[in-house]
Amino acid sequence: MHRKTLAELSAALHKKDISSIELTQYFLARIGRHKALNAFVTLEPEKSLAQAKAADALLAKGQAPALAGVPLAQKDIFCADGWRTTCGSKILSNFVAPYDATVIRKFNDAGMVCLGKTNMDEFAMGSSNETSFYGPVRNPWNTETVPGGSSGGSAAAVAARLAPAATGTDTGGSIRQPAALTNLTGLKPSYGRVSRYGMIAFASSLDQGGPMAQTAEDAALLLNVMAGFDPRDSTSVEAPVPDYTAALKHSIKGVRIGLPKEYFGEGLSPEVAQVIEAAVGEYKKLGAEIVEVSLPNSQLAIPCYYVLAPAEASSNLARFDGARYGYRAPEYSDLIDMYKKTRAQGFGSEVKRRIMIGTYALSAGYYDAYYLKAQKLRRLIAEDFRQAFETCDVILGPTSPTTAFKLGEKSDDPVAMYLSDIYTISVNLAGLPGMSIPAGFDGKGLPVGLQLIGQYFGEERLLNVAHQYQQATDWHKRIPKGFE
Ligand code: GLN
Repeated sequence: MHRKTLAELSAALHKKDISSIELTQYFLARIGRHKALNAFVTLEPEKSLAQAKAADALLAKGQAPALAGVPLAQKDIFCADGWRTTCGSKILSNFVAPYDATVIRKFNDAGMVCLGKTNMDEFAMGSSNETSFYGPVRNPWNTETVPGGSSGGSAAAVAARLAPAATGTDTGGSIRQPAALTNLTGLKPSYGRVSRYGMIAFASSLDQGGPMAQTAEDAALLLNVMAGFDPRDSTSVEAPVPDYTAALKHSIKGVRIGLPKEYFGEGLSPEVAQVIEAAVGEYKKLGAEIVEVSLPNSQLAIPCYYVLAPAEASSNLARFDGARYGYRAPEYSDLIDMYKKTRAQGFGSEVKRRIMIGTYALSAGYYDAYYLKAQKLRRLIAEDFRQAFETCDVILGPTSPTTAFKLGEKSDDPVAMYLSDIYTISVNLAGLPGMSIPAGFDGKGLPVGLQLIGQYFGEERLLNVAHQYQQATDWHKRIPKGFE
């Protein structure tokens, strides 16, 4: 049962081969057997089963939406009414959301079942899931390695088939990099495609929610539910939502795939490079035309991001003050002391580091030198992509410079950790859609992800190019040992 895709589970539910209650119980039991991965922060079996019961009633009437009754894991950054929502932080360890994020409401309206809330880096700051207050997540491909981050719990849960699919969010790579490190298909939509309402803010001009799934087809099915204009999110875009499954089957003959030369230079592991080259060969066989493109400002993406994202985070995280909700320091002398102690005790060191960098970059006297300069770089980076897309339809490269690294290997070296997102961050700075799909394995048997980057609102094309590759290869079907 756990090897079935969403498309297969949906068919089984509609044919009444299985009920949503049975399916939900099945996955909850599997989660219970694999607690050592630490993929989930909160489970509420009664809530999940109540949703499953309601879905079964809908299915019995024969008018249920496509994914009704299918269980799904939710990254613990999405507020879900009545569920504890921690965002990986101690400061929200006692926070029970009083409302649904738009994404959660859409999944509820589609009749889907929430299996639980997944572990993540604190406030989505990280690339390894090691900054979580709830402990690191283990990668099912090798439990001594990280699953990537910040959506590490979602990645481990789907890779180990504890859930058929999950949600993630991506500010600089947090859907694509963990998808790459765990052999999943992850999609970060264009900025504005998926509502951010009720999704706890890290860096508002970069954050975007999206699906983490076994296949491109499943990612398309989930995006069909998640996408769309939301009057409650002023940056959500009022553009019609296509049926993302409609274009999957189109031939990709003649599609121009651009390889950015900057993505194949120093810092890329030779084993990853080899896998990506083989994938390019596969695309040639499928009839795609391969062209070289250049993204000359690529090396500026990390410094630019590490000014802008912390600047936005320092402002967004000002709301966690112990006064309104969440953790409050038990002992303090006056109001200011309460703020200080609450934040000192409630935030972990990576979050504090970002708040300090961001506050500094925004302060009078430094604003022009850092924040404004970074905004200008951001524009140049977006312009690079605009030019590249004059000669290609989709950009292809590695998702991550290496495969999964060992737990603890980079946790004392923030800069080494930041480099994990070297190929993903510029996509968020430009607001473009990006995907990671399974493309092979290194010598240690760890998965390698292939990144596809599309034009604004070009998710259909991306999903099509990913799906065609998955019709010709079976990397995405591989499951880690011990979880078959
Ligand atoms: N790893 C990057 C960071 O630490 C990106 C995280 C994300 O996409 N949420 O900020």
